Amino acid sequence: MEPHRTVLGTPCSLKESYAKVSVLCSRCGELLARYRKRNGTKSNLIKMYVERIAEDTHSILAMESQIPACGENKEIACPGCERSFCRGPRLVKGRPAWKIIAGRVRMK
Ligand SMILES: [Zn+2]
Repeated sequence: MEPHRTVLGTPCSLKESYAKVSVLCSRCGELLARYRKRNGTKSNLIKMYVERIAEDTHSILAMESQIPACGENKEIACPGCERSFCRGPRLVKGRPAWKIIAGRVRMK
């Protein structure tokens, strides 16, 4: 039987052009992640594509496996104060992303 192969990898050049922002807990200021965000800090953070997370500071946002097409509904809590700040992951345009809970994070 032929081994099942999946094609991984998207061009990195585009991702690299995004500004890297620090995502902090809005309550305790804990650094939650570093994220490559289009427009940098100019616009609100609504969601975080997993592939664009530059540093998963507490190893809480990494994906362990493929997510189902309907997505998942986990809540990720801040390691500092245990308030949840995002939900998911969900597929957005075919790519897994965490949805930020409004007001729970700030950017630097
Ligand atoms: Zn916190």
